[in-house]
Amino acid sequence: MANWKCNACGATYSDTLRDGGPYTHVCGPEIVSHEVTDDKGQIVKPRVEREYANHRDENPLPGVAYDAKRKGHVLPDPDDPTGTVFYPGPVPIKSEGAGRTAV
Ligand SMILES: [Zn+2]
Repeated sequence: MANWKCNACGATYSDTLRDGGPYTHVCGPEIVSHEVTDDKGQIVKPRVEREYANHRDENPLPGVAYDAKRKGHVLPDPDDPTGTVFYPGPVPIKSEGAGRTAV
């Protein structure tokens, strides 16, 4: 178990849930400006959101599978539809983004 700070959105999180399962961080939207309403509650200016620059998404890449014999992960080869690519170590994620820092 380790605690991290996302370098893109600034969120801090543990990589382990209370039940011991893995937690995967995905940056939420960055709020550029908040919603503005008039005195009757009518929206006069909607909330504006955008994706953080260098957005982080720790979900596994689509099609990834664990290879117990080689103790790593395999993915479909983007250059060969019948082949796979081996990744030693932790599961490859969708986007490292701006990375994360141990806290
Ligand atoms: Zn983030």
